[in-house]
Amino acid sequence: MTASDYLLTRFGKLSLFRQTCVVVLAAIIGADTLTLVFYGIFFADRLLLDLFLTTVITVAVGFPLGYFFLRQQLKLAWMAARLDRAARIDHLTSLANRKTFFEEAEAIVGSEAFREGAVLFIDADHFKSINDTFGHAIGDAVLQEMGSVIRSSVRERDLAARIGGEEFAVFLVEAGRDKTLEVAERIRQNMRGVRRAVGIEDREITVSIGICLHGPDQTLNDILLRADQNLYVAKNRGRDCIVATTGFGPVFA
Ligand code: GH3
Ligand code: MG
Ligand code: MG
Repeated sequence: MTASDYLLTRFGKLSLFRQTCVVVLAAIIGADTLTLVFYGIFFADRLLLDLFLTTVITVAVGFPLGYFFLRQQLKLAWMAARLDRAARIDHLTSLANRKTFFEEAEAIVGSEAFREGAVLFIDADHFKSINDTFGHAIGDAVLQEMGSVIRSSVRERDLAARIGGEEFAVFLVEAGRDKTLEVAERIRQNMRGVRRAVGIEDREITVSIGICLHGPDQTLNDILLRADQNLYVAKNRGRDCIVATTGFGPVFA
């Protein structure tokens, strides 16, 4: 006899009232079980639905929001980079500006690796008369071209700047006397091509250069002061020339 036969035999032996009670009880238990199964399925469906809706909302709201914030961040970073560049670069020549030159020169001289170097002050000769003769726009073009000449005459690691109206400065790193004079002479010679580049061939364009090589126990201010004095001497010597010293030593060029 199987278990179900046994149960049916037992069920048949019960009174009508008891049989009714068993059926009602089974129905209640069955209904509850069905309800539980139903809620289980319903709950599982809701979970999936919740996950689905959350994903949709996250994508629909989160992505545009994330995109918006990312765009804002990129815009701010770009503006900061532009401001930083504008504060450090001379707008006309794209060389370093005066502030950057002095800051970076200070950093070079103050670094442990610094052994030797030289400051060159380069000033356009009779620049005022270029403006007066050809106009300010041509004057600007000449300054731009001078900036290009200076940049292309020094190495990448050297510091080149426009520190005033028609005044430029170069800090040559790891350059001794010969190297410094070689670079200065190259700059002076290359300036001869500026007038052709700007289209004023009937006008000579020259520069005067004051140089100070870094001597022992000298501060940056000492070197800058002496380079400036040497530039003044070069102007007095008739311009288009180079005057150089090591620190406050005698003029050797
Ligand atoms: P020197 O040989 O003694 O250096 O004579 P200089 O004429 O070059 O020097 P001075 O200091 O008398 O004149 C400098 C001129 O540079 C005057 C000014 O109008 C001009 N200058 C300064 N900044 C700029 C600029 O950004 N653009 C133009 N076009 N000219 C400028
Ligand atoms: Mg000048
Ligand atoms: Mg000047």
